[in-house]
Amino acid sequence: AWTRVKRRLRAELGEDVFASWFARLELEEVTGGVARLTVPTRFLKSWIESHYLDRVLTTFRAEAESVTRIEVGVRGASTPARPAPGGQAKPNPISGPLNRLHATATPAALQGPGPMVEAEVAAPRGESGAVDLNGAPLDARLTFASFVVGRSNALAHAAAERVARSDGEGALYNPLYVHAGVGLGKTHLLHAAGHAAREAGRRVIYLTADRFMYGFVNALKTQNALAFKERLRAIDLLILDDVQFIQGKSIQTEFGHTLNALIDSGRQVVVASDRPPTELEALDERVRSRLAGGLVVEIGGLDEGLRASILSARLEAVRHSHPNFEVSPAVSAYVARAITANGRDLEGAVNRLLAHATLTGAPVTVETAETAIRDLVKNREPKRVKIEDIQKLVASRYNVSRSDILSERRTAAVVKPRQIAMYLSKVLTLRSLPEIGRRFGGRDHTTVLHAVRKIEKQIGEDAVLGDEVELLKRMLQD
Ligand code: ADP
Ligand code: MG
Repeated sequence: AWTRVKRRLRAELGEDVFASWFARLELEEVTGGVARLTVPTRFLKSWIESHYLDRVLTTFRAEAESVTRIEVGVRGASTPARPAPGGQAKPNPISGPLNRLHATATPAALQGPGPMVEAEVAAPRGESGAVDLNGAPLDARLTFASFVVGRSNALAHAAAERVARSDGEGALYNPLYVHAGVGLGKTHLLHAAGHAAREAGRRVIYLTADRFMYGFVNALKTQNALAFKERLRAIDLLILDDVQFIQGKSIQTEFGHTLNALIDSGRQVVVASDRPPTELEALDERVRSRLAGGLVVEIGGLDEGLRASILSARLEAVRHSHPNFEVSPAVSAYVARAITANGRDLEGAVNRLLAHATLTGAPVTVETAETAIRDLVKNREPKRVKIEDIQKLVASRYNVSRSDILSERRTAAVVKPRQIAMYLSKVLTLRSLPEIGRRFGGRDHTTVLHAVRKIEKQIGEDAVLGDEVELLKRMLQD
């Protein structure tokens, strides 16, 4: 089954992405619903965690439903890896050989259903198709009632309510495109809109981009494409989550057709993404502009007041099942202040507090709360970044030495990391260009400026590089 998971990842993500990030991903074990995967480097680990964790889980679950969580570890001293056939995995994630695909012994938990093709294609037929088709029914907890409205999400909330509750408002809100960073409530809002529209008797399909792609690809494989399309178009509201994952030529063509068919016949489309339509590099221009053609709203970061309200709503909900779970106002205030990133971390914090209270039987104090949520807080504190650290990280990332970066050498293999390091020094430290030049082996400030401009430009044109630089930034700031 693990082989199938990998094959699936390869098919979904494309050869390039797969080869870069997943070829050396290996399954260690599956226990208690947790699949432990390992990669050879810390870099790969944090890359996969920050970009692909949900996707790996979804893919895994398609083969082995019992898996509910994915953990990624680094193979190395503390976790001796099963030796890969053919020797040690090479540490460099880019230039390493890509032949580490080996099937592992299949844990019992994974000997699940066969390839999902049959299982899934059966779904679009039959009358109760709305839910079957996506296999991802709406989460009962994610409603408008449980959605806390604040300054940063008021517009998105109002728009979602409007498209959910009223028919045919016209092109103004169609499609409704909501974008925001992770954990800021996009999925919550989409589910809420879905519930409200269903309550109003409208036919709703909620799909993630993954589901859309699976659905379409599987329908094609079994010559069911027509049924799939008809099903999709015979609805009142199409909700599509994480649209940034849609990729692949025939899939996006089909996606474009579906969008056009629905919108042109006055049916509502709501999508969510982690970026604005203009930045959906994987989609072609026409699809992008169609997506941008309705109302585009951003959900901003959660301010402290909003965090406090979300937290208290969440605590309230938990108390239904754990009536003895008490959290004092002081502790709530501390958590709402300490966790600044997003709603997902707030939820994580509540779970940790609950675990703590359940295990120790003691009331949660600010002090114990601090310990319980430390990992969620620590990672978020922006750190002063040192030029030296930038040089070291970039050097190791590109398999050159720090002295190469400081040297006069002008081969491409050195110039690129050098320029990236200069760029990162400019954006992450408060140093002036001349100072940065000095710290890069005594270079002139115009050289630094040239590097900064060049990388800025390349990031704009090359999404892979953009992601890469973004990740380096994050690693430096953690
Ligand atoms: P996204 O899809 O943007 O990554 P989610 O919708 O999954 O984020 O939200 C992450 C968590 O935070 C969920 O548990 C969600 O219910 C909660 N959350 C986010 N925003 C709000 C909000 N405004 N009100 C209540 N809960 C929220
Ligand atoms: Mg989401």
